[in-house]
Amino acid sequence: MTIQWFPGHMAKARREVTEKLKLVDIIFELVDARLPLSSRNPMIDQIIQQKPRLMILNKADMADPSRTSEWINYFNERGIRAVAVNSQAGEGMKQIVTAAKEILQEKFDRMKAKGIKPRAIRTMIIGIPNVGKSTLINRLAKKNIAKTGNTPGVTKAQQWIKVGKELELLDTPGILWPKFEDEQIGYKLALTGAIKDSILNLQDIAVFALRFLNTYYPERLKERYGLETIGEPIVEAFDEIGRKRGCLMSGGEIDYDKTSEIIIRDVRMERLGRLTFDILEEYNEEES
Ligand code: GDP
Repeated sequence: MTIQWFPGHMAKARREVTEKLKLVDIIFELVDARLPLSSRNPMIDQIIQQKPRLMILNKADMADPSRTSEWINYFNERGIRAVAVNSQAGEGMKQIVTAAKEILQEKFDRMKAKGIKPRAIRTMIIGIPNVGKSTLINRLAKKNIAKTGNTPGVTKAQQWIKVGKELELLDTPGILWPKFEDEQIGYKLALTGAIKDSILNLQDIAVFALRFLNTYYPERLKERYGLETIGEPIVEAFDEIGRKRGCLMSGGEIDYDKTSEIIIRDVRMERLGRLTFDILEEYNEEES
């Protein structure tokens, strides 16, 4: 599912999330571990304000493990607890519950001290499309979907999913829009399948991928396509890949669209290994 976001949709999405925020103790902000910043909603801090949050870097199985550790540290240093998981395989689910409990320990201790009966932690998942919200909900839910009646304040009946005894999760995630303003982010989102290819030019996405791989993972790029050297202009490597893969048109010209499709598919199918597209050093340079 790819949503075309228009101002009206954004306002509605924001309203829905804000409404549901009132029902939960903590937000699970889900991002793609391959792009922990680029796959965030640009207004997330404004929207959730002071609500406690756990950052979940999903699809960690597809991301570069050393860079995932760097990103976890990055968030932790900024006072945001973060964990890396693979929702598809169900890896890291316990970490989520443990972290949520720790984040809310004080609040629940205070409630207990006031004589309020202990209850499960209430939470909801928020993220841009395709980061794996439904997959994570299904993983956490197993078969424990609890039917509840109307919750005051919301028109639609909310269902809570019980995750063990300690956690209750809203069965519908909050869907927010990705960052559109920055071209680079657009390419990264397209490469990881978060937005439709057709929104951007296919060849531009592939050229971005080649440049990125040549900068951060040159050996993998050379190995995958049997390239000896990769220099500038990058289009020469593009040509070589096209020729090697037999992407030729009737006159013998390189079929750039077909070559682009191959490169993009290879990246998505992990044929160049586990990749992380948000590089912490680049952001540090911007900050300093
Ligand atoms: P949503 O739009 O955020 O609800 O995303 P989905 O749950 O529909 O997931 C989008 C795609 O990502 C699906 O093809 C999932 O199978 C895949 N996916 C979700 N989580 C993971 C994960 O942890 N690892 C991998 N490799 N794929 C995942």
